[in-house]
Amino acid sequence: MKNNTESQRLLTHNKNYIPGGVVSVNRATQPEIAFAKGEGSRIWDVDGNVYIDYHAAFSPHFLGHNDPYVTEAVIRTLREGASLFGSGTTVLEGQLAEMICEDVPAVESLQLLNSGSEATYQAIRLGRAVTGRDHIIKMQGGYNGWHNDVACNLMTSLSDIGPRKSPGEYPFSAISSGIPVEHQGLVHSVNFNDLDSVRYVCERYPVAALIAEPILQNIGVVKPKAGYLSGLRELADEFGFVLIFDEVKTGFRHAIGGFASIENVKPDLVVFGKALANGYPIAVLGGKREMMDLFVAPDPAKRVLLAGTYNGHPVPTAAAIATVERLRMNDGEVYRHVESLGEMMEHGIQDIVTRLGIKGVVARQGSAFCLYFMDHLPTDWHDIAMHHNFDFDTAFRLNLVDRGIYVFPLATKQYSISAAHSKADVEEALRCMEGSLLYALEAKQSNSLSLPL
Ligand code: PLP
Repeated sequence: MKNNTESQRLLTHNKNYIPGGVVSVNRATQPEIAFAKGEGSRIWDVDGNVYIDYHAAFSPHFLGHNDPYVTEAVIRTLREGASLFGSGTTVLEGQLAEMICEDVPAVESLQLLNSGSEATYQAIRLGRAVTGRDHIIKMQGGYNGWHNDVACNLMTSLSDIGPRKSPGEYPFSAISSGIPVEHQGLVHSVNFNDLDSVRYVCERYPVAALIAEPILQNIGVVKPKAGYLSGLRELADEFGFVLIFDEVKTGFRHAIGGFASIENVKPDLVVFGKALANGYPIAVLGGKREMMDLFVAPDPAKRVLLAGTYNGHPVPTAAAIATVERLRMNDGEVYRHVESLGEMMEHGIQDIVTRLGIKGVVARQGSAFCLYFMDHLPTDWHDIAMHHNFDFDTAFRLNLVDRGIYVFPLATKQYSISAAHSKADVEEALRCMEGSLLYALEAKQSNSLSLPL
């Protein structure tokens, strides 16, 4: 085990003032590590240990930590006297909005918010206002934020939601207490990659909106089958619901136009965050102009309230502009770089698991990947819950962290490569992964794999 004395001391101290010592519940992990510095592909903890980072803070750091171009833009903006004015518009807001409208086919106009959750909240509210209906559809295994509409049905145990079914929907399985029961009846969770279930729900309820990550990236990397996203588009047109793509994790990481642009499918509304500003807190809700215009409808009875003291704050807005500029450079050089590293990682891992005789498969889209301990690429959450070896995954991850490769130590969480990673970083990760897989194999053979999920 690495020395983590100072991390432990800090956590104990902070627990006096912050419940659990962490400010986002997902950060309460074992081992308890407090990080202090990030640069490029590396992060350092308060005990001075260094790690190659494949967690990327749940994936915003697409250019790497503290990318110099982005940092410089932020410092310059502050030096020039930018501040938060809270009245009227600003040059930066207009500049960022114009860039995104140019780059993302589905976005005709947009609003700036501070987090992905705020943006998905507003997207769903807008969907309800547009249609005058209340029910929504989300994906089992999808994460779209912490609010009442979507704080459910993520990594639910199968004993709570029952066997996979099609067509059909799964019982509401909250990931938060405090969600009113009446509200729960408005939310219908369906299988990813299953169009029949969407039709099933639409035939029974007046559905205002369907929200989906185009790739489920909160349970690893679960890709849409050919025709699934366009099938959602067709169902939206048939039943008149608003199609919302939650590209908070996929957007800008897989393409400037979002993953939907790769598949050539246009949602009605789309939400971005994370990689858009390389670690600074900003989110975008954009889409069809006639829908977005409801935020400024002259009739107060029709207007959708979108407000926020910090919306368009100059620091994250400048960071987002600089990030998009970097992504546009040299005809998408960043995307070519991470694709080649991703390919190297995928083939490297696949070679190792084959050589070691481990049942394992790598799911990958560009810079995002996940190693599942099962014999086929997963299609939905049930598939993972039924076939993936969670204990083996946890043992593998914990051992990797100990070797200086930081991956999120929770089974099925996605790994992220950044533009700051090098071939040498991938080689080092592969070398450590081989050691950690051998470690997990030995633990399995000696029957000491009894780790919690
Ligand atoms: N949507 C997706 C796909 C996410 O992965 C997340 C966060 O992980 C969110 C929405 C919520 O974003 P935020 O944490 O910025 O509120």
